[in-house]
Amino acid sequence: MTSRSAPLPPPAHLPPVDLTARLAGRARRMTASAIREILKITQQPDVISFAGGLPAPELFPLEDVRRAADAVLTRYGPAALQYSTTEGHLPLREWIAARDGIRPANVQIVTGSQQGLDLLGKILIDEGDVVLVEAPTYLGALQSFQPYGPRYVELPTDEHGIDTDALEEVLRATPAKLLYAIPNFQNPTGRTLSLERRRRLLELTAQYGVLVIEDDPYGQLRFTGEELPSLYQLGLELAGGPEQSHVIYSSSFSKTLVPGLRDAWVQAAQPIIEKLIQAKQGADLHTPTLNQMIITELVGDVLPRQIETVKKAYGERAQDMVARLREHFPAGVSFTTPEGGMFLWVTVPESIDTVPLLAQAVARKVAFVPGSPFYALGGGHNTMRLSYSSATPEQIDTGIRALGETIRGALG
Ligand code: PMP
Repeated sequence: MTSRSAPLPPPAHLPPVDLTARLAGRARRMTASAIREILKITQQPDVISFAGGLPAPELFPLEDVRRAADAVLTRYGPAALQYSTTEGHLPLREWIAARDGIRPANVQIVTGSQQGLDLLGKILIDEGDVVLVEAPTYLGALQSFQPYGPRYVELPTDEHGIDTDALEEVLRATPAKLLYAIPNFQNPTGRTLSLERRRRLLELTAQYGVLVIEDDPYGQLRFTGEELPSLYQLGLELAGGPEQSHVIYSSSFSKTLVPGLRDAWVQAAQPIIEKLIQAKQGADLHTPTLNQMIITELVGDVLPRQIETVKKAYGERAQDMVARLREHFPAGVSFTTPEGGMFLWVTVPESIDTVPLLAQAVARKVAFVPGSPFYALGGGHNTMRLSYSSATPEQIDTGIRALGETIRGALG
């Protein structure tokens, strides 16, 4: 008889597995959004916050959305709740394509333009690829691209957006893959790229074989000044059609209709769209069917009306904030005067660091976002972003006055 050893007794408890050591290199490159952390401290109920940058909720077309949901459920029945194609709801893609005279095959619906940025990062950025970004730029784009391991090179900007002479110098010195830009009412600065520079940027990037991602969630929210063609539209003219264009355009219904339905789109040449479809299949199969149908129901009548309502409100709020800044801020502070969108950008004297200034401002019951997180490579210690989109005249007056006092206090 052979003796068999008795099975090991089960351990009293499972040995711990080091979860952090098991993370992918990609996950290690991800960082918590500095802004989300900052927003937590500004979300006390009695603090006037110019930090958040949310679209104004009192302007949401609640009843229209209710009616549209009812209409599409009646019209489409179970199909409104079924899986649908990755490319997106065809009538919506047709409506988007018609705006620029392109074909639905050039349009991909995405679950918020934030998803579009992530998927574009996934299909375009290899580790070490040079990605050119504005200094400062949209923090959410940096967060989307970061896991794919880009090497950021910053482009200096002034009141007319990206300095295209500096861009030329960078392109001469550095082989870049991609340029990411927000030409209209930029987040965070509120600045707009001039027409002349749009043309130059297109020429230079085409000449050096650099793809352009044009992120344009605010373009339709111009409340003053002259409408400018998008880089994408200029690119169509100059390149001769959507298949020749090196511009990838991204926009969204978040700022014009509602952000919570998460409906946005990317338009580009077909080789890019085909890869986006494959990437999106792996991410979420498709953007929610019902949401796309509701948006499609609204684009005809409600969207144009809504755009007018939002532009009027934001235009008044921006004008009001600029007037109060002139009144209450000390000499030596400068700020942008946006022609659309939701943000303006303040530069205080070099001696002030806006990160500790925020704590002093919160003590005076007002909050902003310090500018430094918006710089891919650091810097901007004496800058801040202010959002006027969801502030009342009283909040603007009281808040800007308190912020002016805070800055005076820091200047000593
Ligand atoms: N790009 C920019 C420049 C933004 O400001 C935002 C929203 N803050 C987004 C993209 C993401 O928008 P959404 O995902 O809601 O379409």
